Amino acid sequence: MRALRIVGEKQIIVRDRPDPTPRPGEVVVKMRAAGICGSDLHPYRHPTPVILENDLTPGHEPCGEIADLGSGVTGWKVGDRVVVYFRRTCGECVYCRTGHRNVCVNRRSSYGHAPDAAGSDAEYMAVETASLMRLPDYLSYVDGAILACQAGTAYWPLAKLGTSGRDLLAVSGLGPVGLLATTMARAMGARVVGIDPSASRRTLAESLGAELTLDPTAGPVGDQLRARFPDGADKLIETSGSNAAHAVIGDLVKPLAGVAIVGLGSPNFTIPMMRFVHKELTLIGTSIYPDTSFKEICEFVRDHAVKLDSVVSHYFPLESGPEAFQIAEAASSGKVCFTFD
Ligand SMILES: [Zn+2]
Ligand SMILES: [Zn+2]
Repeated sequence: MRALRIVGEKQIIVRDRPDPTPRPGEVVVKMRAAGICGSDLHPYRHPTPVILENDLTPGHEPCGEIADLGSGVTGWKVGDRVVVYFRRTCGECVYCRTGHRNVCVNRRSSYGHAPDAAGSDAEYMAVETASLMRLPDYLSYVDGAILACQAGTAYWPLAKLGTSGRDLLAVSGLGPVGLLATTMARAMGARVVGIDPSASRRTLAESLGAELTLDPTAGPVGDQLRARFPDGADKLIETSGSNAAHAVIGDLVKPLAGVAIVGLGSPNFTIPMMRFVHKELTLIGTSIYPDTSFKEICEFVRDHAVKLDSVVSHYFPLESGPEAFQIAEAASSGKVCFTFD
């Protein structure tokens, strides 16, 4: 089969790999769609020795159909349409056992991040059955790839913040997660203000229903926001991971607001705490989404006619992997997605 591999700083190749065979308790998924995520860009920009020295296939947004079953697999059959929950967890800890797998305390390497857990930038992928989520008939494979990581990552903080039609929501960062948060928050009834330095991303957010977008390079965003909404935002979701964006969060929201942090860019966070204290803000972290919420998210998408693929700006075959990563890395497009025959 064909699969991608990172071979140097911003260097990716398409190469042949042996087709995977399922181990006991695993299936092989034939990929039909796979997304490139912001978190794929960290190892692309700064590959670690682990990545360069091992034969590692990136990608953690897999969606496809089951092509082969390992021994002992029950409840699944060849042809089933599936999304892969890419975070590999222990299944034993109290969090795994109570529906909070996303915060498992014994996490193993995620798919796409270890030699024994090859990722989705390949024609086939071996997957443990515990990682399979059923893709409903009413969603496409591209929808499934978007849901695998980014749509769930956008939905979960909105749900935890209790986003509703009473809210003015600030969306900090208009990459794919911010764009998905924009369209989902609109479906929840909220009004949205989007913030991103990229003009093309701001235009995309406006097309998805953001009623105001702000350019943080054009002056203090708090002042820009209050020029239109003097009281500030009711809630905020931070998706960019940028320290500059973190620095102004407290200035964008009203007292008593809820703030969800999703984006992880730098290992050294510098969120000024003064405004959090003075305004009695509530800060929550969210880490992807629990797989137990997958059905709810799918049904939300269906019932509110959310067009997940409206955030996709580029589709590529896997053979165009190098170009696809270049475009995703430039951070001025919508989502970049591989599709497979
Ligand atoms: Zn992702
Ligand atoms: Zn666990």
